[in-house]
Amino acid sequence: MQPKTVDLLIKDVMVLKMDPKRTFLEKASLAVDGGYIVDIGSELAYEPEKVITLKQGVALPGLINCHMHGTLTRGICEDMKLMDWLNEICYPLDAQYNPEIISVSEQLNQLEMIMSGTTTFVDIYRYMDSAARVLLKSGLRGFLTPQVVDIPQGVGETFADNVELFHNWHGKGNGRINVWMGVHAPYTSVEETYVRAKEFADAHNIGIHTHVAETLDEVAMFQEKHGKTPFEFLDSLGVLGGPFLAAHCIHVTESDMDIMAANDVTAVYNPISNMKLASGIAPVARMREKGIRVVLGTDSNLSNNSIDLVKELQIAGPLQKLGRMDAAVLKSYEVLEMATIRAAEALGIEESVGSLEVGKKADIILFDFDRPHLWPYLTGERNNIVEQIVYSANGADVHTTIVDGKVLMENREVKTLCRQEIFAKSQKMLKRLCVGAGLISGND
Ligand SMILES: [Zn+2]
Repeated sequence: MQPKTVDLLIKDVMVLKMDPKRTFLEKASLAVDGGYIVDIGSELAYEPEKVITLKQGVALPGLINCHMHGTLTRGICEDMKLMDWLNEICYPLDAQYNPEIISVSEQLNQLEMIMSGTTTFVDIYRYMDSAARVLLKSGLRGFLTPQVVDIPQGVGETFADNVELFHNWHGKGNGRINVWMGVHAPYTSVEETYVRAKEFADAHNIGIHTHVAETLDEVAMFQEKHGKTPFEFLDSLGVLGGPFLAAHCIHVTESDMDIMAANDVTAVYNPISNMKLASGIAPVARMREKGIRVVLGTDSNLSNNSIDLVKELQIAGPLQKLGRMDAAVLKSYEVLEMATIRAAEALGIEESVGSLEVGKKADIILFDFDRPHLWPYLTGERNNIVEQIVYSANGADVHTTIVDGKVLMENREVKTLCRQEIFAKSQKMLKRLCVGAGLISGND
């Protein structure tokens, strides 16, 4: 019998499935056809259109970044106090963005994600129509959540923008483009916006993405104004429940965590941003003990300063260990789950991505272990491949990135976006933004 033709065969690599059995295969191949994984095994007989093979390669599901902003600037006016930085740098910059700048910014961000193994991301920022257009081209999977800000006006999107984006883009790009409601935060958005967002989300079977309890100042301000914590306030509005991604959740009480658990709220942990802005240490270990789903995000390139989720894998555990003074807290496998299958669950797409299993979409990345910082490693039953990826790897070790069965990068060559062009344009746009925000003069 003639071997069956498939689009792609990833041949003879190590495979970390991230499935419930925590399967590790020492040498296996993955057959991809029509955008789906159709077979995984050691002796596959297919006639592939294309073969990718990598001697020290490890295949795993593409990483999922559950909280980022498609901003352009990094390394601008660093080392400031959070509220000063927000008021003096972020808001003036936010007000200067336009669809053209966002288009460049999104190209740069999506390029960085392809090159560091992120295949799905949740973006909360401005002019997301431009982000959607870039998604069509880049080939990534995205959840776009326009950053709706009521106070101060003019630095974010409106509820109407969010609704329009949903109608224009949700489900486009073969289902790769998703639109959720993106309400910035309880201290910048009025009650009515949350209530309307919840009604819209329920009616259209989507979720809400917002920031909650990032700083002590925010919680104190909230207590003074409402006599409630941010989570008690959101609960009293009836907007929790249903898919709800709450970024940060650093200053949460035991009763806040009970509310989160009862409503199946997902907390997005952004360790590098939290450290750099001195926001605090999210009680991730405690949240997990209470049964709350915790996933990973990078936050923006203003506060991180990269959106390389592999870096986040490395810092996620140590910050919790330090916070609890307990080195056994948050194990490496749990951290990798937070960036793969747990994140897919948070977004309601665990049936199609988040692990490498037959019948799932082919969102696959390949790490190249042929690097000094990844040698030596153990295979077999006591293999330490997960530990190597979480504690020793970096985003530049990603060799290949595949989404929906399409190869977006192979051997570090990105096929869908042109990096030279993006670099040149982003340099121009950075200057335009900084001049507009009054951070540099037009002559600089
Ligand atoms: Zn954020």
